[in-house]
Amino acid sequence: MANNGQVLREIPSVNKILTALASNRELALIPHERKREVVREAIADLQRKIKTGGEPVINESRLLAVITEKLLAGSQPNLKPVVNATGVILHTNLGRAPLSRRAAAAVKAILENYSTLEYDLATGERGSRYELVVKQIRQLTGAADALVVNNNAAAVLLAVTALAYGREVIVSRGQLVEIGGSFRIPEVISQSGAKLVEVGTTNKTHREDYERAITDQTAAILKVHPSNYRITGFTAQPDDRELAALARKFGLPLIEDMGSGTLIPVRVPGWDETTVAERLRAGMDLVTFSGDKLLGGSQAGIIAGHKEYLGRMKKHPLLRAVRIDKLSLAALEGTLNDYLWGEARQDVPALKMIGISPAVLLKRATTLAGLLTAIGGLTVAVQEVESLVGGGALPAVKLSGYGVVATPAVISGETLERRLRQNPIPICVRVKGAGVIFDVRCLTDRDLLLIRDACAGIMKEVRK
Ligand SMILES: *Cc1c(COP(=O)(O)O)cnc(C)c1O
Repeated sequence: MANNGQVLREIPSVNKILTALASNRELALIPHERKREVVREAIADLQRKIKTGGEPVINESRLLAVITEKLLAGSQPNLKPVVNATGVILHTNLGRAPLSRRAAAAVKAILENYSTLEYDLATGERGSRYELVVKQIRQLTGAADALVVNNNAAAVLLAVTALAYGREVIVSRGQLVEIGGSFRIPEVISQSGAKLVEVGTTNKTHREDYERAITDQTAAILKVHPSNYRITGFTAQPDDRELAALARKFGLPLIEDMGSGTLIPVRVPGWDETTVAERLRAGMDLVTFSGDKLLGGSQAGIIAGHKEYLGRMKKHPLLRAVRIDKLSLAALEGTLNDYLWGEARQDVPALKMIGISPAVLLKRATTLAGLLTAIGGLTVAVQEVESLVGGGALPAVKLSGYGVVATPAVISGETLERRLRQNPIPICVRVKGAGVIFDVRCLTDRDLLLIRDACAGIMKEVRK
């Protein structure tokens, strides 16, 4: 016991530890009070251990390491970056589209500064955030006008509310879809205060079905992209131009929820999507689409088309409730500029990942396989894989590429998957047999090294 007393006296003081921590730049943003609190807790913990004989000597550097780790862990945000080795490019759970460098730079430029969000530099008076990207969207889509809101769900809600509140909206039964579990067309229409009028059948809807449903209560015709769902075989939808002519004859807006909307044609086998500009040219009065699906930008909902209809939305009180924030807007403008001023297929990460050649993927997979083989304890093989676009876009399109299967000798594939997921920078993979598979499509060079380091750490621990 006398010995314990001696050890207890050797514990460094709170101030001595705080001084030692002060030189660690990683902890610079943590308030002094919080540091003091954690140091006190760690000392109390150590005192308890010493008293019960669990700590015969003081190891000062280990004490510092424990405190540092606790401070760092506690100050980590819950929303953190992950490595996406799933091969799903627009993974909704992983934040959909990663931003381009132009988009990231645009966000960085306004992050810690004031901005022209609602300030018109020409007049020195109040401006509108909605006008900041109108010109770009018009240029890219050929639309007369545009409006950007929080997301595509909000875009559809706003369009239907502003144009059809208290009246009827006609939708084909083949397009009454649910997207991502919570966006269901019938419910969105009922939320908007309009009445859904279903026409046709699940597989076939004709022009006459639409025409028969038009009454003096009709306010709009809505088309919906089935996104993650396909009706094939004995199917029919009226020709766009026919439907557009019908809408025009009765003075009704023809609206299309495109879901993921592309701004440029995507050159991938099996791809049958048309661009936003093409949809407008085919006769849609208004189209709505997401900013963070195939467009490859930030979360946003874009409405493009007819000036008068958009004018009604711009004046609608709901707009304020679904407005876009400045960070998303900055990122969206950066991404739109990739299309206008850059080489979008190279600059926009989502598009680059879609278009990347199998040869490049094979090389990347071979590099990763080499890094993983060098660790030891893993059986490693390069394998052909099929990646998905994701984000509810093009469920039928499979992108062929390469992955690396890593099978550990002493732990299961499930355990390896879980350990990778719990890495400080989580690594998301799929279990494959007794191992895991890293699809290399969405991986950067830096990701390959992160994977190597994480696997090396895990294998070292399990071999102990
Ligand atoms: C994804 C999708 C939505 C929802 O878009 P968000 O931007 O996620 O709100 C709506 N409609 C369709 C057809 C979609 O594919």
